[in-house]
Amino acid sequence: MTAASAPERTVLVDRFGRRARDLRISLTQACTLRCRYCMPAEGLPIMPREELLSTAEVVRLVDVAVDALGITELRLTGGEPLVRRDLEALIGEIRARHRDLPIALTTNGLGLARRAAGLAAAGLTRVNVSMDTVDEDRFAAVTRRDRLPDVIAGIDAAAAAGLVPVKVNAVALRETLDGAPDLLRWCLDRGLSLRFIEAMPLDAEGTWTEDAYVTAADVLAVLGAHFELEPVGREDAGAPAERWRVDGGPGTVGVIASMSRSFCGACDRTRITAEGRVRPCLFSDDEIDLRAILRSGGDDAALADAWRAVTWRKSPGHLPAEILSHPRRSMGAIGG
Ligand code: SAM
Ligand code: SF4
Repeated sequence: MTAASAPERTVLVDRFGRRARDLRISLTQACTLRCRYCMPAEGLPIMPREELLSTAEVVRLVDVAVDALGITELRLTGGEPLVRRDLEALIGEIRARHRDLPIALTTNGLGLARRAAGLAAAGLTRVNVSMDTVDEDRFAAVTRRDRLPDVIAGIDAAAAAGLVPVKVNAVALRETLDGAPDLLRWCLDRGLSLRFIEAMPLDAEGTWTEDAYVTAADVLAVLGAHFELEPVGREDAGAPAERWRVDGGPGTVGVIASMSRSFCGACDRTRITAEGRVRPCLFSDDEIDLRAILRSGGDDAALADAWRAVTWRKSPGHLPAEILSHPRRSMGAIGG
């Protein structure tokens, strides 16, 4: 085998020996919020429906991923995946074909109160809800929408529907940092698992700067002034969140240091954008168009080969924060 050719294997591996097991599929780039670190105020351009992968196309790609490429975990994301009306049908179809596959959803929580029970019944395993603050005014300022009560209703409904553990994701931001202890207390009181994530230069407006982003160390310093934090390590070797036990437990808090302590060396993810392009790395614009293969009648082997080829070329990791430039796609256009 030469360094230039992808191996004939039934798994997804790259030149550096990393194996992708965790598939994230973006179902849309439309969204009901306009988080400043992700979307422009006017939202991303509306994609004509025929550009998006259909329910059947998503199901087919999941089949290939699981049956031919050894994917063991699926996450549905976006944009906002709850914008897709076929979400329950899609999950039901995937569940019928893959009984034991963990299927998770990353959502902003809007509309989840109405749909959580149906999603659970369709076969969804669990949800991550993104919520950066429990302060209504700050929530409205960060997301450009005054919808915090709807997000909270969504979290409550997800827990009631058994979509557990419900994890709350918060991007660490200057404007919400002093509210981090309130958010952690709120999550601990409800038995929810909270993770803070360092903002990455994946905002659509290109405003992220190396000097301005809040680091994991900043978050821990603020939390440490209110709680006793004891390190308990990662959930497993590939898990991005480092965790701390809070005030002797049982609650924990996680911090994902995507920028200051990059974990690219342990990356086990592969992503598909809403229009069906495999993107092995968030920060690299190298992609392969699976939708074109699907729509030109390509068989499963052709899909798997293309997927393996682009994975083989995956970059070793992102550049250090001080020289990293914004990739062509923003987070909402990739699927976080
Ligand atoms: N709309 C859904 C949501 O917000 O959960 C799913 C898509 S969103 C792109 C997925 C995750 O990416 C969210 O937790 C969000 O906070 C995170 N995210 C978006 N932009 C980010 C950025 N520039 N840096 C770090 N995380 C970001
Ligand atoms: Fe929408 Fe999620 Fe991006 Fe916020 S982070 S704008 S909710 S896609």
